[in-house]
Amino acid sequence: MEISSRTKNLGTENAFVVLAEVNKRIAAGKEIISFCIGQPDFDTPKVIKDAAIKAINQGKTGYVASAGLPELREEIAKYEGKLRGIELDPDAVVVDAGAKSFITHTIMSTTDCGKGDEVIYPNPGYPIYEAQTIVNGAVPVPANILESKEFNFDLDDFKKKVSDKTKLIIINSPQNPTGGVLTKEVLEGIAEIAIENDLWVFSDEIYSNILFEGKHESIAAIDGMKERTIIATGVSKTFAMTGWRIGYAINEKLAKSFSTWVTNITACAGHPNQYAAVAALRDAEKEAEEMTASFKRRRDLIVKELNDIPGFNCLKPKGTFYAYPNVTKACKNTGIKDSEELRKKILEEVGVAVLSDIHFGAKIPEEGEHLRFSFATSDENIEKGTEKIREFIKKNSK
Ligand code: PMP
Repeated sequence: MEISSRTKNLGTENAFVVLAEVNKRIAAGKEIISFCIGQPDFDTPKVIKDAAIKAINQGKTGYVASAGLPELREEIAKYEGKLRGIELDPDAVVVDAGAKSFITHTIMSTTDCGKGDEVIYPNPGYPIYEAQTIVNGAVPVPANILESKEFNFDLDDFKKKVSDKTKLIIINSPQNPTGGVLTKEVLEGIAEIAIENDLWVFSDEIYSNILFEGKHESIAAIDGMKERTIIATGVSKTFAMTGWRIGYAINEKLAKSFSTWVTNITACAGHPNQYAAVAALRDAEKEAEEMTASFKRRRDLIVKELNDIPGFNCLKPKGTFYAYPNVTKACKNTGIKDSEELRKKILEEVGVAVLSDIHFGAKIPEEGEHLRFSFATSDENIEKGTEKIREFIKKNSK
């Protein structure tokens, strides 16, 4: 018996690999300050938990329609439509166990296996885009996100990625791992490319509520884009509900296909959890705003602390809870080869866990070296962790 080669070659979230390294050290009694984890460090608001408990006690624990509870789909259409300033039809909404599975559902619904269909996706970016493109038999085409453009695409470069084989463009804003937000101009440029070439756009907007400046701009709100955009988002990050596994996608033409994929794979998202999501969207706005305000305060703190480390240069993240400092000079000054070696050294020598740029795609040589810090952690950890790195860099600089 053999394991298939596509499984053996399946990409993953390397964050989980680093997490295993961290846990090994913790089990061995070492104290680690971690900036790895991509989830809010808050508990789910009480109003949401109460709704789930009520649903469980009322016996709402069986299978439901694959597309999701009608009540939830209506609430999603209302909430997400209002956020983007567009009308959304509840029938265009499909719910599943997290926004993540819609990456797969979308690739499977818009490309054919082994035909050379191409998928353009952001680099650096969430590693699942590339992994799922490959495993589903499509061809991954990375498009660079540039620090010099405040973590946006260069539109001329982006255009060159499109070929007659392109079927799907994946974008993510606000963005993991850079904390960048795609500008209106870039969104309009991508919309033009998508319309001209008749392409689908998967718009991963999971961080749409964790935004520190201005209002969320969705590519779906641009003229002619709603029909070709798959808005993918969910309650994980906004409402501190990562473990509840409720995400959704919105697109009228694909809703039926998505719902068939859900029937094939998960049957439906957790029934009581769907009631929790209804309560989140309906009744937890204040709690969500408070959490975002807290991330904004911590953003200011971590950017100040990181920029105080010799050889670190950190742009201010506009959204998410990730900071992505450029550490090229720190590597040079300490004689450390690259970001990954620096990551390993600060974990081994000062017990601070972070991710490096290679966990988010192929290195772009001219972009230099980067680390990713999740600041979904306490002020104390931010201060202590960055101080340890500062001391390490100062001690090892030549
Ligand atoms: N997209 C991005 C860019 C993410 O960072 C994450 C979570 N790490 C997800 C999707 C997955 O979200 P969910 O919990 O809804 O599956």
